[in-house]
Amino acid sequence: MLLIHPPAAKACEPPAGIARLAGTLRGHGLDCTLLDANLEGQLFLLAAPSLGTDTWSLRAGRNLKDNLAALRTPELYQNPSRYRRAVADVNRVLEQTGKRHHLTLSLANYQEQGVSPLSSADLLQAAENPKANIFFPYFAARLPTLIEETRPTLVGISLNYLSQAPTTFAMVGFLKKRYPGLPVVLGGGLVTSWLRSPSWSNPFAGLIDHCLAGPGEEALVRLLSGDFSPRLQTPSYLGLPLAEYLAPGLILPYAASSGCYWNRCLFCPEKAEGNPYLQIPPATVLADIASLKAAIQPIQPTLLHFLDNAVSPPLMQALAAEPPGLDWYGFARISPLLADIDFCRALRRSGCRMLKLGLESGDQSVLDAMNKGQDLPLSEKVLHTLAKAGIATYIYLLFGTPSESLAEARRTLAFVVHHHAAITFLNLAVFNMPLGSPEAPLVTRSEFYGGDLSLYTDFEHPKGWSRKEIRKFLDQEFKRHPAIAQILHRDPPIFTSNHAAFFC
Ligand code: SF4
Repeated sequence: MLLIHPPAAKACEPPAGIARLAGTLRGHGLDCTLLDANLEGQLFLLAAPSLGTDTWSLRAGRNLKDNLAALRTPELYQNPSRYRRAVADVNRVLEQTGKRHHLTLSLANYQEQGVSPLSSADLLQAAENPKANIFFPYFAARLPTLIEETRPTLVGISLNYLSQAPTTFAMVGFLKKRYPGLPVVLGGGLVTSWLRSPSWSNPFAGLIDHCLAGPGEEALVRLLSGDFSPRLQTPSYLGLPLAEYLAPGLILPYAASSGCYWNRCLFCPEKAEGNPYLQIPPATVLADIASLKAAIQPIQPTLLHFLDNAVSPPLMQALAAEPPGLDWYGFARISPLLADIDFCRALRRSGCRMLKLGLESGDQSVLDAMNKGQDLPLSEKVLHTLAKAGIATYIYLLFGTPSESLAEARRTLAFVVHHHAAITFLNLAVFNMPLGSPEAPLVTRSEFYGGDLSLYTDFEHPKGWSRKEIRKFLDQEFKRHPAIAQILHRDPPIFTSNHAAFFC
């Protein structure tokens, strides 16, 4: 089987989704080849860029090779302003190359003018006309070579982000024209969300052979006529270009769970989609990490990235008791465990460099209304305890939930300012109402926005706190506060939390 991670997404770590599937397939004695078409596709475009003639573009073009090499060394990350310039310059080259194709293309995004990844008609059109895709010269050469070499009986594409959707469909269109008898399976986070949406009515039935929701291991083993045995398998990164990613060393992604052990926040797509919580026992996680490290020798990973929606307290305890021998970061829920300084110091010693925390709001009534299950006094204590233990924090805030108005948003501003010394990085998001949210029936909604594949619904804010007003507050008030501006300035451009741990 050929498993593909399509463009375009951040190319700073190997794709965990296809590695997890490969672990299971190989564990069942089934052959599979991994293709990171995202990394390869971006490097392909960068190898023959279309540059503008302005000074910046010319400089970016001249320094491209050096900047790409520097992004793969730890030295660059010691100098934040040099890092910023290198990222901006590499991005400039990609951006200019995209412009020639009427695209907004960056190291993190892909948007075609007049093509919405939320519209099935637009995606089917991308499949009809693969030649129009900027990555066509890459995949039209790479896929046939690989297919002829490995003779797969099935091709799987892992579609996780909207920015990957147009090229995914262009690749499917190409494959279907060139190899009409070769079945194509589509899975991944975005496909799971589509399939679990109340409005899904498979518009791709005539094109895609199988669309899979959730973990695809069992379905793939069965499609390949294997006998599925439901034992846990270590992911397999074999065959991926592990030294090529845009990071100062290999970032090893690992998911110790799927779904969320809390699963109660009303705004959360995990809850809206009803994804079950599946956890790998902590002892197995530690053994898995050890065997992953051994399997990729002689490459030594530099950082472990836990992909869990929230690393569970038992796993944190296991990591603190038995450090994985590798620095790590990931999402966690604010919990009493993280207010214990001795535990946080042990966590730091275990290699924990940074925790991403969904604080969401600095107003207790908003937190209560969204079922966040967090008290602000505990959150304050956690922030300061982590800071004292030397663990950086990447704090996520959400504005515009149904119970928030300007007054509550200003309390969030005051909270952040008051505790700014204990906050390393900040992520600001404006609330989108998931279609399946329990709150959706309680507000006045318009049909869909964006297209028939949209996962969110537009709604009239019950307190009149419109997106326009929220953006105005964020731009003119929140981001301008000197204490907040200083935190925001620290955020690595484009790669944001994926590179943040290298600046802690
Ligand atoms: S803790 Fe995070 S993942 Fe879990 S339900 Fe809340 S928002 Fe969703």
